[in-house]
Amino acid sequence: MKIIKKSKELSDEVAFLKRNGSSIGFVPTMGALHNGHLSLIEYSNSDNDITIVSIFVNPTQFNDKGDYNKYPRILKNDLEKLKNVKCDILFTPLENEMYPTKDKRDFNFGNLDKVMEGEHRPGHFRGVALIVSKFFEIINPDRTYFGEKDFQQFTIIKHLTKLLNLNIEVISCPILREDDGLAMSSRNMLLTQEQRANVSLISKTLFEAQENVKYMSVSETKDWVVDTINKNPFLEVEYFEIVDEIKLEPISNWSDKKEKIGCIAVHVGAIRLIDNIRFYS
Ligand code: AMP
Repeated sequence: MKIIKKSKELSDEVAFLKRNGSSIGFVPTMGALHNGHLSLIEYSNSDNDITIVSIFVNPTQFNDKGDYNKYPRILKNDLEKLKNVKCDILFTPLENEMYPTKDKRDFNFGNLDKVMEGEHRPGHFRGVALIVSKFFEIINPDRTYFGEKDFQQFTIIKHLTKLLNLNIEVISCPILREDDGLAMSSRNMLLTQEQRANVSLISKTLFEAQENVKYMSVSETKDWVVDTINKNPFLEVEYFEIVDEIKLEPISNWSDKKEKIGCIAVHVGAIRLIDNIRFYS
């Protein structure tokens, strides 16, 4: 595995690989790698000759400075984890490499960044779009891999490639979960033992809600999920929305749209976790 810190060196390396006919898959991450990240790398390996992974804790996507400061940064551990998969190039730039000058760009995502994460984390998706568009410019991969755990982010990145006329295939990969159902997340390692024991209620409730559609309406399901989770003293739901998967617009009846997803954000003390579940009916 080649470790590259400079964007010029990375784009030169990619140009060389492309001249030799290699296809390139790109997996952006913020590090503190877990099996969810590694699964994206495996998807990339199965579709591409070369897989490039980035580890960069992107300051512009954090609307909460405290969250940014305490975000886990454990590069040594990450390097160990990457030994278990084929990662051809690891890109670990410093902040001034990615933001040598203030980037004032804005993006029009329509409704996509107005709801859910966008509504509750102002500026978050602009920051995500800034950094991902820079990575795309440097690497111009054939394919890029995003986890469905951040479903809204995946939708926005797909839109971003259209907005910028990029010929990059954006591929979504399923959520990897711990044995008790908790969606894997770098933030899970910040939970105390007591909090960790309680957060499995989030996915458990979502899975139960998925079954309950047989006898609960959309609004009953929403209320039931929020009430069930909020009854646990460690957990506080920030939002739970059931939306169509394409436009992320709320649905009011199960029959409104074929593809629908329930997205949730929950505060666990100072930590904020997200998860989602598809609804079929
Ligand atoms: P992050 O490091 O949190 O920015 O995540 C990097 C990529 O890994 C994003 O595309 C995430 O959606 C994806 N990811 C994070 N957690 C999971 C998970 N539990 N399963 C699958 N993909 C994930």
